[in-house]
Amino acid sequence: MRLRTLTIAALATASVLPAAAAQAASTGGALHALQSDGTPVELQSVALGQVNRDLVLTVRATRSIDPADFDDGGRICLHVRQMQEAAVICVTRSGTAWRLRRDQRALAGVIGQPKAGILRVRWRPADVGLEPGSVSWRVAATPDGCDRVALCRSRAPRESGTDYPGRVMRVSVVGCVASGPTEVRRGAPGKRIALTYDDGPSADTAALLDTLQRLDVPATFFMIGRQVEAHADVVRRVLAEGHEIGNHSWDHADLGRGGARASRQLRETNAVIQSVTGYTPCVFRPPYGSTGPDLVERTRAAGLTSILWSVDPLDWKRPGADHIVARVLRQTGPGAIILSHDGGGPRAQTLAAAPRVIAGLRRRGYTFVTVSELLGYRERLELRP
Ligand code: ZN
Repeated sequence: MRLRTLTIAALATASVLPAAAAQAASTGGALHALQSDGTPVELQSVALGQVNRDLVLTVRATRSIDPADFDDGGRICLHVRQMQEAAVICVTRSGTAWRLRRDQRALAGVIGQPKAGILRVRWRPADVGLEPGSVSWRVAATPDGCDRVALCRSRAPRESGTDYPGRVMRVSVVGCVASGPTEVRRGAPGKRIALTYDDGPSADTAALLDTLQRLDVPATFFMIGRQVEAHADVVRRVLAEGHEIGNHSWDHADLGRGGARASRQLRETNAVIQSVTGYTPCVFRPPYGSTGPDLVERTRAAGLTSILWSVDPLDWKRPGADHIVARVLRQTGPGAIILSHDGGGPRAQTLAAAPRVIAGLRRRGYTFVTVSELLGYRERLELRP
């Protein structure tokens, strides 16, 4: 072991989680401060928290954490246990970079050293078999050569046989954040495209969801506010199966001229969707595609982007499934936003077209995303115990 004289880093009180997490859903977990144990890499405090979908382990040492102490068998490891599942997640040094491993295998994650004495590690709990719920955990810092030397491993908590209690939080998507252009017809050029369905929820929505689930395709459903409560179960199912819900006005009025009535329709539709699902939309499809500067301004003021389309197969006119499929395949290009309907009339043709549309677009190399994914919007997440 290379014992060296290390500069004592300034030990100002730092927050457990990075400042960048201020806008994210985060919980720092408890910060566990430790008594001195006189080891070479002496743990001063540890914390296990969560930022969005990631667990974050923050390890603070009384001196700087010198990478050279961790490049030859040295490691800082989190031992975490949940029911029958146990994982050992270790940070080591390889060449010029920190590496994250679980049981000797590489683990996807982010390792940062924001200050000389702090190491912060971030990874997905599901990648190590952890689910939402309580866990118990401990940390051990073992510098190079320590395995052959007594009393050089720093353990948190100090007493062997004890662990800290912790928790993997349940993540709920409670909304998204509209940004960039206030009115959009298509996404960035690329192979990602969005299927959108308007005028539901209706009696046909569940059958469409069955098809999308079978084919593993996400879509965006622009819903009419006054229909939401009568179809509350299917509305919740839309979100649970990974689709996006958008706002399509309260009663399908032509809101193109804007005004206070438009703002009220936007607000009331978002409110009913929120009350049924806990999710607040950030995308709006103007009924009839009728739009104007005042409506667009009011749409953004309500936290939404006005979403038009680049592909329109006129499925609502019921031209036959073959025509719907042919029109979509002909019109679709990079970043397409494809308009269709799961309500407003009998939709058997649209339902029959869906699997063929999806297969045809996949053959052309396209992948499907929701509208807010297509536009790169940030999700709003909430963490619950
Ligand atoms: Zn419509």
